[in-house]
Amino acid sequence: MAEKFLNYIGGEWVEPSTGEWYENRNPANWDEVIGLFPRSNEEDVNRAVAAAKEAYKEWRLVPAPQRGKIMQKIGDLLVENKEDIARDMTREMGKVILETRGDTQEAIDTAYYGAGESRRLFAPFVPSELPNKFAFTMRVPLGVAGLITPWNFPSAIPAWKMFPAIVSGNTVVIKPATDTPYTVLKLAKIMEEAGLPPGVVNVVFGSGSKVGIPLVEHPDTSIISFTGSVDVGKDIAERAGRYLKKVSLELGGKNAVMIMDDANLELALNGVLWGAFGTTGQRCTATSRLLVQEGVYDKFIDMLVDAAQNLKLGNGLDESVDVGPLINKGQVNTVHSYVEIGKSEGAKLLCGGEPATEGELEKGWFYKPTVFADVSPDMRIFQEEIFGPVLSVSKFKTFEEGAALLNNSAYGLSSAIYTENLLYAMRAARDFEAGITYVNAPTIGAECHLPFGGVKNTGNGHREGGWTVYEIFTDWKTVYVDFSGRLQRAQIDDAE
Ligand code: NAP
Ligand code: MG
Repeated sequence: MAEKFLNYIGGEWVEPSTGEWYENRNPANWDEVIGLFPRSNEEDVNRAVAAAKEAYKEWRLVPAPQRGKIMQKIGDLLVENKEDIARDMTREMGKVILETRGDTQEAIDTAYYGAGESRRLFAPFVPSELPNKFAFTMRVPLGVAGLITPWNFPSAIPAWKMFPAIVSGNTVVIKPATDTPYTVLKLAKIMEEAGLPPGVVNVVFGSGSKVGIPLVEHPDTSIISFTGSVDVGKDIAERAGRYLKKVSLELGGKNAVMIMDDANLELALNGVLWGAFGTTGQRCTATSRLLVQEGVYDKFIDMLVDAAQNLKLGNGLDESVDVGPLINKGQVNTVHSYVEIGKSEGAKLLCGGEPATEGELEKGWFYKPTVFADVSPDMRIFQEEIFGPVLSVSKFKTFEEGAALLNNSAYGLSSAIYTENLLYAMRAARDFEAGITYVNAPTIGAECHLPFGGVKNTGNGHREGGWTVYEIFTDWKTVYVDFSGRLQRAQIDDAE
């Protein structure tokens, strides 16, 4: 019998009010059950929010550098447990161990960055227009933060949200993705061990509809921070809008790489393979469109197809494996239906295009790395996020034409250009409609201390990561202190 795990509410590990659990299985080997996780509902959300609200009373008054000391300890414990977290993360969601180590490292970096930021949290002091009067600003926490996270970065994304939220003095209720509860549970255990007071972080496991929606609609959550799909993001924004809540959305992408004739093609090939097939294409920043200038189009496609066919699929715990499984059966079906759409739209299928089921792979949700050529912008596979190992390749003649193709998207998260020409690189930095532009590097590889997010349908204008995430999790208070001893009237006493 698999282990039964519990919700974490008010510093206690508690059963869900429903008395129901669900199975979490390994997508590389469907026979392996990781554990049973609570199928919670609104009642559990209410308890968690109440615990977070209670804890907020004291937590907001703890000096930020003291909160930062706990963050430092969380970072240290994550370092100690890095390999264990990474291995279980690979079992839980399939990506290769190299990447789950990276995912854990991102949580470590975010913890240490938060520890440092706790001693800064700068807020401007501004001169008053009146004599003997000070005006300054301060950052204040928002209260209870409701966090909803996806499965593709099981530790990094929850850490990106939880750590800055608590460094800023908020308390948190997090609902992790149904497919990756275990990693967040392990993070919670580490935060508990690091000495985080009860109720500062609460974890409620369960579905988007039974746990996510009640968290969004709870009158006591002051901010909702969500990473996931556009459709769910819009639904959350609408619901939260009725309560005038602050909402931060990190949504999908349809990221493109542009390769100029003058590019170093070996370098570009390595970047495209990593960008398109890393995490089996299930990254918001995955390379899903490749735009190649006409002079190297045929040559690069040959190189690409040859390399894509040689990627090794398998269980991500095997260090020699390049590509793990998709997250679940539903995702295999989605990816395959896009392959059928691509074929019927007239794109040229060059490799892959079907599930991989040989030998051991039969037990998991594997899909062959897939490349389509001659893809045009009116095709759905050019426009829609597939979230799988499917790369669409298109040809262009001039930089302008390539940039227009790159910008022909409803999304705007990541982008990249491969060129040896500084002028093209600078124009890309200026003209690509995306939150992130890489030069001679793949579309993936964000660093935790820099702003992360995108334009258009990728989000609603916030940036996680770096110093900008502290804008999300704090509000501004302006304080005027008049020490003149008399009534001073702004705009009146000092008028010309
Ligand atoms: P998803 O279906 O939108 O789910 C994300 C989270 O929202 C999950 O925890 C989900 O719970 C929950 N949820 C679902 N419906 C909800 C609702 N109506 N109200 C509240 N919560 C709800 O996305 P996903 O399939 O997990 O992740 C893939 C998507 O995330 C892709 O579109 C990808 O581009 C995007 N993503 C974006 C970024 C970024 O930073 N921009 C990073 C990673 C992923 P369940 O798990 O129970 O369904
Ligand atoms: Mg699983």
